[in-house]
Amino acid sequence: MAEAGKPRVVVVGGGIGGALLAKTMEPDADVVLLDPKDYLEITWAELRSMVEPSFAERSLIYHRDYLTTATIVTSSAVNITEHAVLTADGQSLAYDYLVVATGHVFASAGSRTERLAEFQRDNGKIESSESVLIIGGGPTGVELAAEIAVDYPEKKVTLAHRGSRLLDFVDQKASKKCLDWLTSKKVDVLFQQSVDLKSLSDTEKFYKTSAGETITADCHFVCIGKPLSSSWLHDTILKESLDTKGRVMVEKDLRVKGYNNIFAIGDITDIPEIKQGYLAQKHALLVAKNLKLLIKGSPPSKLATYSTGFPLAIVSLGRKEGLAQLPYLTLTGCIPGMLKSKDLFVGKTRKQMGLNA
Ligand SMILES: Cc1cc2nc3c(=O)[nH]c(=O)nc-3n(C[C@H](O)[C@H](O)[C@H](O)COP(=O)(O)OP(=O)(O)OC[C@H]3O[C@@H](n4cnc5c(N)ncnc54)[C@H](O)[C@@H]3O)c2cc1C
Repeated sequence: MAEAGKPRVVVVGGGIGGALLAKTMEPDADVVLLDPKDYLEITWAELRSMVEPSFAERSLIYHRDYLTTATIVTSSAVNITEHAVLTADGQSLAYDYLVVATGHVFASAGSRTERLAEFQRDNGKIESSESVLIIGGGPTGVELAAEIAVDYPEKKVTLAHRGSRLLDFVDQKASKKCLDWLTSKKVDVLFQQSVDLKSLSDTEKFYKTSAGETITADCHFVCIGKPLSSSWLHDTILKESLDTKGRVMVEKDLRVKGYNNIFAIGDITDIPEIKQGYLAQKHALLVAKNLKLLIKGSPPSKLATYSTGFPLAIVSLGRKEGLAQLPYLTLTGCIPGMLKSKDLFVGKTRKQMGLNA
């Protein structure tokens, strides 16, 4: 419901960054959240939901369940003008302030019900297979291999990775610890071997790698990084604000370069740091603070600024263990496991969104 008298803040993208920003701004603005999905997905719970589909009941949250006064528009942004966001279904959403939070391309189902069914299907695939091929050795591939190895120790898991080490965003020592952990769980890790994605089919059981090896597996999962969702910005007023990698260039106060009333947050920004949800949440809270200042009439020179911290990353390794990359230390085992692996921060994130854990 539009609230008369309050400035209109349009948030494009309902991932963790956009969702938290929309929620935080509700008391101070007429908020519109634009997202092609009808739900927020806590993305870091995705791999657990593939081995335990009921886990997704808590990690997929209807936007309407955490928002109270905001208007939810279920569509995609296709253009931005000086005054409005245009949507794929033909709407024009006027804004006083705009926040771009479109992160990475989201290729899964747009409805929560369908997304729950996807997890059931993925789980059915794992359950009915004796051997599983995972393509990609980034966090998604590693976490999925670990979830399957722990929950289904009888299944043969092979992980094929194009690079020469796992998790290239952590240091060499952490990569090696991760490899040792997977190997201890009998996961077969193949390096510098890619699988031609175009040749994949659901019935094929033999996978040829770029190194000429043949992997036999009853099913496969593609776990390679998704592209940024910024191609839609190429013909908008923000086209000059994209860097060569398609990231939105922001100032220290997270306003988009060249604009006073447009901000960007989360994975889509060019902030030089590991792309993490907890950082997208920090961006959201900082931008909410800045929007409130602007709404109260503060000049842009008084806005709060963002500074990057030490890179922190925790990769879960099944239900009890994990791997943490801390500033001067890498840890594997139960301590990082206690921090992340049991509940994957789902309860914490739900509470932050004002819901029961
Ligand atoms: C396996 C895995 C494990 C991870 N583990 C962790 C972890 O433990 N801790 C952590 O902090 N981070 C973790 N991350 C990273 C985290 O998921 C991301 O950093 C975070 O999701 C970024 O949030 P975001 O809101 O910027 O973007 P996204 O989550 O990518 O959301 C973008 C949103 O924009 C929407 N959108 C896209 N295009 C459009 C459009 N044109 N119009 C309207 N809407 C659009 C999408 O539907 C989506 O809702 C993990 C990631 C992966 C893959």
